[in-house]
Amino acid sequence: MSEQQKRTEIGEIGEFGLIDQISSKFTNKNSSTLKGIGDDAAVFGSGDLLQLLSTDMLLEGVHFDLSYMPLQHLGYKAVAVNVSDIAAMNGLPKQITVSLGLSNRFSVEAIEELYKGIQFACEDYSVDLVGGDTTSSPSGLVISVAVIGEVQKEKVVYRKNAKENDIICVTGDLGGAFLGLQVLEREKAVFKENPEMQPDLEKYDFIVKRQLKPSARMDVIHELGDLGLVPTSMIDISDGLASELFHIAKNSEVGVTIYEDKLPIAKMTYDTAVEFNMDPMTCALNGGEDYELLFTIGQNDFEKIKNHADIATIGYVDKRANGLKMVTKNNNTVALQAQGWKHF
Ligand code: ADP
Ligand code: MG
Repeated sequence: MSEQQKRTEIGEIGEFGLIDQISSKFTNKNSSTLKGIGDDAAVFGSGDLLQLLSTDMLLEGVHFDLSYMPLQHLGYKAVAVNVSDIAAMNGLPKQITVSLGLSNRFSVEAIEELYKGIQFACEDYSVDLVGGDTTSSPSGLVISVAVIGEVQKEKVVYRKNAKENDIICVTGDLGGAFLGLQVLEREKAVFKENPEMQPDLEKYDFIVKRQLKPSARMDVIHELGDLGLVPTSMIDISDGLASELFHIAKNSEVGVTIYEDKLPIAKMTYDTAVEFNMDPMTCALNGGEDYELLFTIGQNDFEKIKNHADIATIGYVDKRANGLKMVTKNNNTVALQAQGWKHF
């Protein structure tokens, strides 16, 4: 009889450990594969214009709850989160495929709603829907989108290549999508208790929108192009700033220092965190799904962005040996913790 095989729980190694383990078993055979597993998108091609490919799946009950997520928004978000990964490579999205797992809970009209959102996103990001797949699912809704993008060879930006003394930048503001989700979850709980109660969402419009209808920062990618600025490294913020800083640091073999008082937090995000008895800074560092961009630039490029209203400079790239640190408002230096999203 064979020895009983050891069973390892996925939770023991986590999502990133699992991806590392998968990737360690494969080597690329094609010289056109320039970057495989391990960045926001794969990079391939041989000429001056490279192709980018990324895919992201959204599962009902894990990534969205249809009791507060309108199908149109869901369609839009499924595309936006994919486009965001192309933005993170400094590329332009061109084509998408959309694959659906559907149960008979959904009507033709419901799917039309979903595709209205997909269509809006295709307009906003100038991408073409070129295919997909449709299958039945026993209960929940599954949406998997793949996106193809393009980038000039000299403009592609990876998670690696951040250099010591580079400046760390983030777009927009952080923590809003996470607090929007808290508000939606609270209102859902209130509604379950007492269906007579109408949700009070208007007051939280901004953060609820951050959760339900995130945008990919293609506007910033176009602006960086106009400024002639190619970041040294970049990633989109899907799991939380701290987690993304760990990816940049690991891939670039550097350390980072950020300043708490420089983290961009919208007033409504701040106030709602306080209302929920949460620390606004923790929400900004570890709240997911903001889909902003985190990037590093050489000091010579600082002039180009220093007056940009929607780009905050939050710290600098350090030696690897100095690790990942945050200087707090009280001028204490603390080690950064990457909590991120843990689905397992
Ligand atoms: P992002 O948050 O930017 O979408 P992920 O953390 O999902 O990136 O993925 C990181 C890298 O791991 C990407 O290169 C992605 O293509 C790859 N990856 C994720 N899951 C798998 C898998 N099951 N098999 C192979 N590669 C994967
Ligand atoms: Mg990403």
